[in-house]
Amino acid sequence: MKVPLLDLTTQYSKLKKELDEAIIKVAESQQFILGSELAKMEEEFETYLNCKHAYGVSSGTDALLLALMAIDIQPDDEVIVPTYSFFATAGVVARLNAKPVLVENDPVTFNIDPKDFESKITSKTKAVIPVHLFGQSAEMDEIMKIAERHNLIVIEDAAQAIGTQYKDGRFVGTIGHIGCFSFFPSKNLGCFGDGGLITTNDDKLAEIIRIKRVHGGEPKYYHKVIGGNFRLDALQAAVIRVKLPHLQSWTDKRKYNANLYNKLFIEKGLAEETGKTQFDEKNKVLLPKAVYENVDGLKNYHIYNQYIIRVEKRDELKAFLTQNEIGTEIYYPVPFHLQECFAYLGHKKGDFPISEFSADTSLAIPIYPELTDEQIYYVVEIIERFFK
Ligand SMILES: *Cc1c(COP(=O)(O)O)cnc(C)c1O
Repeated sequence: MKVPLLDLTTQYSKLKKELDEAIIKVAESQQFILGSELAKMEEEFETYLNCKHAYGVSSGTDALLLALMAIDIQPDDEVIVPTYSFFATAGVVARLNAKPVLVENDPVTFNIDPKDFESKITSKTKAVIPVHLFGQSAEMDEIMKIAERHNLIVIEDAAQAIGTQYKDGRFVGTIGHIGCFSFFPSKNLGCFGDGGLITTNDDKLAEIIRIKRVHGGEPKYYHKVIGGNFRLDALQAAVIRVKLPHLQSWTDKRKYNANLYNKLFIEKGLAEETGKTQFDEKNKVLLPKAVYENVDGLKNYHIYNQYIIRVEKRDELKAFLTQNEIGTEIYYPVPFHLQECFAYLGHKKGDFPISEFSADTSLAIPIYPELTDEQIYYVVEIIERFFK
């Protein structure tokens, strides 16, 4: 049985008629830049996320870059980021010649450890970028409290967490000062190429973001500030508008898949429960834990952009699954502090043991909404066979 890590063709075939029509409508209008498709999409996200301002942008990476430009990050400013995330989280900081200051993650949630965050604050720190990694919220109450005490801007990297709720029910990306989302095809809500979204509840920041999204000209061709071309194409906005109404049902199916995986791994004796952080005879597979799963009425406690297991012989398991036609991926094999391009930060192996442990042992297995139960049973069976 073939089980790819991600299969976008099934989703497309189900929505083909609507998607094709939406694309043709944009083609017929010949309105490709800004315009009504984008404006409508932005309004729909303001309603969906319950935030004051949402702007479509060219990618999740550009959302982060624009956020840092909006708060006027300068060379030598420090921006705190987790060492274990997708490259863009730290890359955007370095691109502005500011210093990414790295922080350890939590062994259960893979998200920024608030205590380590606070310990890394200096007089140069301007902002922090908590990442809602794999689709689960970071500890926002603690992060916001620390940020307030030290007068820091909080930019949420919600690239993997569209629709994720924090324990109080708010959507991530609307809790900090600025939220950044990605519509990269492998995210839960993907467009037909690159795309992203930036959100804020702050009117002043919104105005700066709006202007810096189009080179910083206000009015056009008159520049008090420098921005970039960070616009989302009307074609991508049209695709997203067709898909957004389906997002919740896809998320529900991802949660169902994750719960089925958890149940099967436990039934087969490969794990005792979710959220374990150490291997032993009864926990050969460490399962991801949705820490707010039992909060009353909280629907999207985790949106499972990725379902991440950790195993000791990760590379061997990955090869074994490939042989059995099961797609997997390693998110992420090298934390920032061990990346060559960040050698100048002066870190060494052992500086962030929890992140290194995750980098060495984590494996994403298929979780996309269109997976069948049969495929999930098959994946767990093959993993069981690997351990026999
Ligand atoms: C995908 C992702 C990004 C970047 O988004 P793109 O749209 O690919 O530029 C940033 N941060 C995280 C955590 C991501 O997963």
